[in-house]
This record gives sequence, C-alpha cells and structure tokens, in this order.
Amino acid sequence: MSRLVYINGQLVEHEKATIHVYDHGFLYGDGVFEGMRIYSGKVFKCREHLERLYESASHICLDIPLSMDQMVLAVEQTVAANKRDDGYIRLVVTRGVGNLGLDPRSCVKPQVIIIVDGISLYPTEMYEKGMEIITASTIRNHPNALNPRIKSLNYLNNILGKLEAIRAGVPEALMLNHLGEIAECTADNIFLVSHGVLLTPHKNAGILAGITRGTVLDLAREQQISIEETVLTRHDLYTAEECFLTGSGAEIIPVTKCDNRTIGSGTPGPITLKLIRAFFRLVRP
Ligand code: PMP
Repeated sequence: MSRLVYINGQLVEHEKATIHVYDHGFLYGDGVFEGMRIYSGKVFKCREHLERLYESASHICLDIPLSMDQMVLAVEQTVAANKRDDGYIRLVVTRGVGNLGLDPRSCVKPQVIIIVDGISLYPTEMYEKGMEIITASTIRNHPNALNPRIKSLNYLNNILGKLEAIRAGVPEALMLNHLGEIAECTADNIFLVSHGVLLTPHKNAGILAGITRGTVLDLAREQQISIEETVLTRHDLYTAEECFLTGSGAEIIPVTKCDNRTIGSGTPGPITLKLIRAFFRLVRP
C-alpha cells in the first residue's frame, strides 16, 4: 500500500519524505507532536489533540504556520489520501531549518509533517490477561525543567524509562515525579481503582494530559463511577484493586502486576472491564 506523507502542504511518497539535517527538530528535539487514532475513517478527538498541539507549541514559542481549521483539513486530506479506515497519525511540527546554534530565531519556518500508518498494539493476550510493569528508577522530567504537559520531540526521558522496562523484561515502566509520586508510564497515563473509586494523578503531577485519559474520565462519569484526580504514591498502587493504562496507541490496557507484586486479584477487574467495553462502544460502535 502506498504511504503518502504530508510535508508543508505537499503529499510525498514516504520513501521521499525527508527533512533537512539542519532542522532543529532533528538537531535539538525542538518541536512538538501528536499521535492520533483513526477509527472507521474518522480522526478520534481531532480537535482535542490539535488543541494540545497548539498549547505545546505556544509553551515553546513555536508559531504553527497553519490555523487550527487548516490543520484539521491537512490531517483529513492526508488520511483520505492514504485510504485508511483504521490507523494512526503522527503529526509533527519542528522549529524548522536553522544554523547549528541553539537560537530558534535562526529557523525561518516551522515544518509541518503528517504521517499516516498502521499501529502495532501490545499483544492481544495482554489486553485479556493484563500486563506486567515495573517502576523505573528514572523519574519523569521535572516540570520546571521540561514540563511533561508539553508533548515535545524530546522523548529521551521516556526512552530511559522504556529501556529500564525492556531490561526488566516487561513492556512498560511506571515513572514517578520529582516528589516520588506516581506520574505516568513512558507513553501512557495510569489509573487505579481503590475502594471502588477510580483514581488518576492530577494534570499537574508531571504528566501529559492524555486525550484517552480525558475520554476515560468522561466515560466513568457517564457510568456513575466515582473519580478522583489526586496525588498517588506506590502505596496506592500496591494496595489497589485494579490498575490500567490509557493512550491513543495502547487504548485501555489492564495492569495486573507491578514490581513483581500482584495487583488486586491478578486479573483485569470489573471497573477496568466496564470502561474497556464503554470505550469500544464509543470508538468501534
Ligand atoms: N503520556 C505520555 C508520555 C504519552 O506520550 C502519551 C501518548 N502516547 C500519553 C501519556 C497518552 O496520551 P494520549 O491518550 O493523548 O495518547
């Protein structure tokens, strides 16, 4: 299947979709991105993702050269050109081509890149039986250094966490914040269930405010499940009845073991399963 990549208004075959080595996105990770899902030919929560993209760009003083409406059209045009009913979109905005110094003012024009592709999830078995994770010793970026609310092209912090997971033989790692509280996993948000209440770290706990996280909170409200966005520690995790992760790529995946400790009954719990069913009714009705 031919894969067409949008680069600054042009649709280019993916082998020919290249960027300049002086682009500060490449040299310094100076840029922002989004990862979105296509369900039944439609981009899921496109506006919410774009709002987060423009907020991330605003934080790093990056002027995206398209209006939000123009960006929606560019995304839809790229999805249509790739004839994909289900898949994943990676939207990247880099600072653009500059000189070898850090100064962003040397970059004349931000580059907008939209890639549409398939998505490889965790193995199906993990969705049914639950996944095992560990706590990484690498903490999440300090919000006063590089705020995790910015979805920036600099993902080394998360990659260091991911490397710890891989070395421990598990697919994901929990990352704590600079206060030792639960933040999120390397590319997913985390939820716990304790005494029947759905718990998740608040937006300023050093996390990315996930779009799937927001969707799950909305679904929980609809299902009359009590929710609390609060400070969580590993005490809460080790004593929780249920745990699951959320992300555009991962969707909702149950976690049944962390740091070699069994969580709850060791199988995906009733509230997790209820939310998974509600999520699938929403995205794949
Ligand atoms: N946290 C991090 C660090 C992420 O990169 C992501 C995206 N994969 C998420 C959480 C989940 O966010 P979303 O639900 O918007 O995909």
